[in-house]
Amino acid sequence: MLPWQPAYVGIGSNLGDPRGRVLRAFEALADLPDTRLLARSPLYVTPAFGPVSQPDFVNAVAGLLTRQALEPFFGALRALETDLGRTPPRERWGPREIDLDLLVFGAARHEDARLTVPHPGIAERDFVLHPLCDVAPDLEVPGVGRVWELARSVVDRGVRRLD
Ligand code: ADP
Ligand code: MG
Repeated sequence: MLPWQPAYVGIGSNLGDPRGRVLRAFEALADLPDTRLLARSPLYVTPAFGPVSQPDFVNAVAGLLTRQALEPFFGALRALETDLGRTPPRERWGPREIDLDLLVFGAARHEDARLTVPHPGIAERDFVLHPLCDVAPDLEVPGVGRVWELARSVVDRGVRRLD
């Protein structure tokens, strides 16, 4: 049996009831086998990133403990994206019904064609760092830095709390 590992998942949606979909993503993450959902961040609204003109995103972060191994856990996230209505194919930076990013998985540092952990965009993404700082300010992102320090220095593009 594998040890329990902390895992942090970034959730984003900007198509088809984004708020409802992010809330459903929390429920679906809580139901993953050998996994406990420990923390749900508040929801944030974020202007879309990159060149494509599109609706604002709703973003949040889930803090979990899991006994799954890294690659099966990532596979489960991909399957959840499909369950939650992600419709391929999509353009990079384009709008999406749901995006689940594996931000941090314990102390893992992993890089292959399919999966990079920690997620390579964390340090530049205000919409990841603000909710991550709500659930895990003292977390050390392996090879990157401490969350509250990263959140303090990220360029803020106008992320704001929903509610
Ligand atoms: P992004 O999440 O950067 O906005 P996409 O959701 O379109 O972009 O994902 C692009 C690719 O990133 C996917 O094919 C996925 O396999 C890959 N990927 C690599 N590492 C990760 C990770 N840690 N979490 C989520 N996707 C990842
Ligand atoms: Mg993604």
